[in-house]
Amino acid sequence: MAEKLLEINHAQIYYATLAGYVKAVDNVNFDINEGEIVGLAGESGCGKSTLIKSIYGFIKYPMKAISGEINLLTNGNKLNMLFVEKEELRKVRWKYISYVPQASLHVLNPVTRIKKQFLESVKREHNVKEKEAMDEVKEYLKSLGLPPDVLDSFPHQLSGGMQQRVIIAMATFLKPRIVLADEPTTALDVVVQRGILQMLRDIQKELKNSLIIVSHDMGVHYQITHKIVIMYAGKIAEIGPTDEIFNNPYHPYTRLLINSLPRIGDREQRSGIEGSPPNLLNPPEGCRFNPRCPSKMKICEEKIPEMVEISKGHFVACHLFQKNGKRVKEDAE
Ligand code: SF4
Repeated sequence: MAEKLLEINHAQIYYATLAGYVKAVDNVNFDINEGEIVGLAGESGCGKSTLIKSIYGFIKYPMKAISGEINLLTNGNKLNMLFVEKEELRKVRWKYISYVPQASLHVLNPVTRIKKQFLESVKREHNVKEKEAMDEVKEYLKSLGLPPDVLDSFPHQLSGGMQQRVIIAMATFLKPRIVLADEPTTALDVVVQRGILQMLRDIQKELKNSLIIVSHDMGVHYQITHKIVIMYAGKIAEIGPTDEIFNNPYHPYTRLLINSLPRIGDREQRSGIEGSPPNLLNPPEGCRFNPRCPSKMKICEEKIPEMVEISKGHFVACHLFQKNGKRVKEDAE
């Protein structure tokens, strides 16, 4: 059985504002196993970027961990990334868990050659000799199909796609067990996007580690993930194997999300999901999707739906389904 690398239990991460807390991630639970590529999906503001930052222990005011656990499981130890000390973080970052941030094309320092940035990021976290590190970096770049002379370039001399490849190479050089990638293909053209996804998949296959990828683009999830976590308004709506989520979605929100995607050969105009996500300062009572849900029932305004397992590894949080996974209302088709 695959080893569990990460467990998320009742994670609550809010943003402090003058008007109160924005409940960005609210009671989220799931696990990540070795070898899995997991996608976090949902509209903007659903909490996916907040969650991925928190998994990396990157929690800075006004972001605030309220309660729960995001446990990194390392050699029999548990490290709760929601309430971790700086020194503990330093030990696990890069070597155990690494992060390719959103808008990472702005991450590289424009006035410093790539070589220096690569070495600084590696040496900052781990005590290695420069010459040895440089030889290994060159070998690693070659293994990824990147020309080692990128090391002598300044970022502006590289294309957007090449900068992104360099950042991914930096993030994976120390062979971390978990790689987090926040919208890694945003702002890149479709051909470059495909190359980046292929690179991430190849690295994951080689390292046999786990990749957690955030994207608002369901096409990205379809291409690369094994499992998808659908988030809505700070909560998980549905989790399941990627092919099931696409072929047999249960949650009304997931259905609308999938139905809004264009299909090859289908000229019919696809409509978006009506309405907009709720204000998380004051989210709706009961199911947070209820103001937009075409299948809403009375209970949906009163009670938060629990997560139930419909089939192996496929969970949904919706009152249309009972504990045994049986549908209680047929009009969600
Ligand atoms: Fe719709 Fe109710 Fe299910 Fe929420 S719990 S998705 S409102 S049917």
